[in-house]
Amino acid sequence: MPPNAEATETSGLLPVVPFLKIPEDGDPYLAGCRCSDCGTTFLGERANCAKCGSRKEMEAQTLSNQGELYVFSIVCRSFPGIEVPYVSAIVDLEGGGTIKGNLINIDPEPEKIKMGMPVEVVYQKAPRKDAEGNEYLAYYFQPKN
Ligand SMILES: [Zn+2]
Repeated sequence: MPPNAEATETSGLLPVVPFLKIPEDGDPYLAGCRCSDCGTTFLGERANCAKCGSRKEMEAQTLSNQGELYVFSIVCRSFPGIEVPYVSAIVDLEGGGTIKGNLINIDPEPEKIKMGMPVEVVYQKAPRKDAEGNEYLAYYFQPKN
């Protein structure tokens, strides 16, 4: 059973970013859009294509939860209250879309992390609440077995 097969309890959680969608009856997913002229995929919604400049309608697209690590950085200093070290990563999603997030479930050691390694997107409750006490659902990447 893959590690993310346990159902994530999402009720009452807010999406940490607008492009993270939490359907009432289904699994959370990342939303993007695709240029009908050049086929480039972007995170979230856009009015026009940043690659080819097309102003035709962008098609809504559900982004893949599979991808590969494009680049990473091990963060050893951060704001007060943020646990370090952690791995900040940029991932190219299968089928399009490039997204920044944290790589989890791996030791934050350079020799253990490989550019191009397969990763998957997992959804978990964010560790902190906001000032109003709201809780958030966040996305992370983890190595794919
Ligand atoms: Zn385009």
